Amino acid sequence: MPQSMTSADLRVHNQARLLRAVHNADQPLTRASAARLLGIGRNTAGALVGDLEAAGLLHEVPAEASGRGRPTTLLVPHPEGPVAFAADIREDSWTLARVALGGELQVLETGEHDRTPALFADIKAAVGRHETEHLAALGIAISGPIRDGHRLHISHLGWDEVDLDDHIGDGWPPTVIDNDARLAGLAEVRRGALRGMGTVMHFHIDFDIGGTLLLGGDPQRGAHHIAGEFGHMPLTGSTLECMCGVKGCWSLDVGANALVRRFGKEPGYGTGRDLAQEVLRRSETGDAEATAAVDENAAALGKGLGALANALDPEAISLSGLGIELIRLRRDLIERTCAANLMAFRRTAPPRILPGTVGDDGPLRGAAEIAFDAILTEDRLRDRL
Ligand SMILES: [Zn+2]
Repeated sequence: MPQSMTSADLRVHNQARLLRAVHNADQPLTRASAARLLGIGRNTAGALVGDLEAAGLLHEVPAEASGRGRPTTLLVPHPEGPVAFAADIREDSWTLARVALGGELQVLETGEHDRTPALFADIKAAVGRHETEHLAALGIAISGPIRDGHRLHISHLGWDEVDLDDHIGDGWPPTVIDNDARLAGLAEVRRGALRGMGTVMHFHIDFDIGGTLLLGGDPQRGAHHIAGEFGHMPLTGSTLECMCGVKGCWSLDVGANALVRRFGKEPGYGTGRDLAQEVLRRSETGDAEATAAVDENAAALGKGLGALANALDPEAISLSGLGIELIRLRRDLIERTCAANLMAFRRTAPPRILPGTVGDDGPLRGAAEIAFDAILTEDRLRDRL
């Protein structure tokens, strides 16, 4: 907090902290528990809640009585308060959702797209069909790296440097966009399996594998916002050419593309998800080819995780997408190959490998989080209060 902070600044600072605490909580806070979390007195908390209620940012409702003691209240989103929209754009489809303070998410619409940047007009039209005056920000998750925050690459769709500034601008709400794997990780550290942990990694496995290193809750973005392409490191010794232009990427061995290729089909371009699911199903009924394919995928996953743990020393690693199925079907194999690739002195304390708990909509929930990060700033609150 800067030395020159005035009492008005301090009040906005604490209002922002209070809204953030309400947003981050896994269940509605009482006024007293919010005061304890923020380290402020009950009277101060009461004044802050009063300000925020008057500004239409927070609503206080009676809690259900629970035995003896003073009746208490819960802090919930104000019915007139700001909401965020979140969109998850995958290689073959999109989802648009409305998210309230606190993270409650309601899917508004889903659609398919034509695999060209015309899909941004589809998203804009869908936002227009649902937006109200309460819409304060839109967060978008998309399945490719975004250099410098606006130059998008999606190799599966043949998109090379699509400039988002040409597609998102006039007529859009304030919009923030980031990579889907990074946002899935953000959702896990804010609301899922990695909650409260310091140095962690998250990997989202779909057609291939992408991930993020999170330090103190922040996904690392690198100098040009394109960090985290762990799937494009030669961790497993493949001799194939990757669509990214590098030979031997980890992604050639982990994910739906690898399963599809194993069965002689041409992977890439965001197709083959059904076949990959079919391979997983057949592996559970004892099909030898499918079983071998899933074994190879899981072993390659564990091997890469071990190599990355040597470099980055995470306390835990969570997985989403196909990673959840791979943990369910092959946890032992993943842990064994991870351990085998850890330096010997690390093997007594390997990173925990956890299924993500946020679910398939991790990128969508992460997109909602960056939208709320844009809403819950002191500057935007000052305008409203
Ligand atoms: Zn690659």
